Order: sequence, then structure tokens, then C-alpha cells
Amino acid sequence: MRKIFAKNLLDAASCGDTGVLDKIEPEPVAKEQKFPKNCSAEGSAFATLNLIRSFLGMVRDRVSANGLLAALPQADWARMRNDFEETHLARHTTLIEPGQRISIIHFPENCIVSTVAVMEQGGSVEMATTGCEGIVEVGAIIGSDTALSKYVVQVPGDALTIEYQTFKKWDREIPAFHKMLQKYMQAHVVHILQSVACNAAHTIERRAARWLLMAQDRSHGDSFLLTQEYFAEMLGVSRPVVSTIARAFQKAGLIKYARGKITIANRAALEEKACECYRVIKQVYDFHAIDC
Ligand SMILES: [Zn+2]
Repeated sequence: MRKIFAKNLLDAASCGDTGVLDKIEPEPVAKEQKFPKNCSAEGSAFATLNLIRSFLGMVRDRVSANGLLAALPQADWARMRNDFEETHLARHTTLIEPGQRISIIHFPENCIVSTVAVMEQGGSVEMATTGCEGIVEVGAIIGSDTALSKYVVQVPGDALTIEYQTFKKWDREIPAFHKMLQKYMQAHVVHILQSVACNAAHTIERRAARWLLMAQDRSHGDSFLLTQEYFAEMLGVSRPVVSTIARAFQKAGLIKYARGKITIANRAALEEKACECYRVIKQVYDFHAIDC
């Protein structure tokens, strides 16, 4: 890997200063972590470590926590890895706007990025969620050199990035990489189509449960940072509606919510609460052997 940009490190150092979170205590997580989690105390320690690495010119030697890259044959990854850079994505960063020329491709490792549709009156709603199973922007896979949609970081965390032209070169030259991207695209299209049906057919409560499960799957842990304001925006509802749902989920023991941090407390019960779309979307990614 090449050195980390100082800007990214500054983002990492400042991403907790949103006014929502005063201090977040690290908690043990149930899942194995390949990579330190999002913008918590662990994330700050990780950013500091990377800063030291950067100044010392150290090269990281690891398998990516992004599922697409981790699944590549070792020899292929060895050819590509020096073209990737490590970055930290701060919460609410807009990665790209519709129609904007694509210059960088992001491979999330433990952050979560929403594909959002922005309406004329200013509201927006999420169409898809991308984490460690995928890439941003997916239009690059089908040859588009401009963004098809708007992408916003909802849960801060880390990603690997590669320049668009270099991404295209490896897509042409490494069959396993090309095949992996095509499989991901197929699954992602089903994901978007199911989300369209979900937004029209299922209750806010069930959609909220689905989103929380997907966020947990993609963040390598039981806890992640999420403001109610942006959770409401993703679901296309008002903040009071989300507050009511969050209180009900917390009262039922499904989640814990404090100072912008959500912890999944009872996953089995949350799965019962979620709509069928969670299972449908997960199955299609599983079918294509795409996972974090
Ligand atoms: Zn649904």
C-alpha cells in the first residue's frame, strides 16, 4: 500500500466531533474483527497507528477486509495491492454526486455507504446500502465514467481506494477480478430492486429492522455510529418517527441507543421484526459467494 494521505488522517481524527457523540467507550464485539472498527476510541488508535506508519513509510501487508478483494487469488491481489490506498471515511461525507466524473473507486472495509435518491423538494431516501461486501461507485463496473447516483457515508470507517483508470486496467487484465465484479453487480441490482419493493410495501418499523441487520453485517461488529437524523433520511421519514421506532426497539431489548451509537442487543428478535427483504438480499449475495 502507498502512504495514507494526511487529509484522511485528519478526517479520522475529527470524525467524532459532530456534536452528537461526546465520548464513545469501546466495547467487545461478537464477530471476529479483521480491522479496527469505525470512529470510536479504537478507530482513533488505529488512525494514530496509521499516522505513524505513514510517516515511517511503512507498507501494510495484509489481506483486505473488503470481501471482494479478500476473495481474490493471492497472486492476483499481490499484483494489485500497491495500487490501493488506505483511507478513513468520515460520517456524512458525500463520495460522489450523480453525473460527476468518477476518479476514485472505494472498497469499504468497515464503513457503510448509502446510495440515495434526492428528490426535488429536498428530501432523500436510500436505495441501497454498501459496505465490506461491495464497491462505490458500481457504475464503474458497467463502464460508466460518471456517477449514476449519490453516495453518502452513513457509518464512518475505513476503505481502500484505487484510481478509476487503474481499476479499469485490472478489470480488463485480471479475470478473477472481472468475474468477481460481475457477480457483485448482479447481486447489487437485485438488492436495489428489492429495496424499491421494500420502500413501497413494508412498514417503516420492518424496514428499520432490516437496515440495522444489514448495517451489523457490514460493520464487523455489534455496534456502529448512526445519528437518528440520517437514519430518518435513509428511511425517507421524519426524525420523530425514527425516534419512536428507536425507543420501541430499545424497550423491547432489540437495540441499545446512546449518544449516536447503536448496539444490536438481540439479533434473533431483530430478524423476526425485519421484513423478508433482509433474507432475500442476503440470499442473493450468499448465492454469488459475496460476503465480508
Ligand atoms: Zn422489505
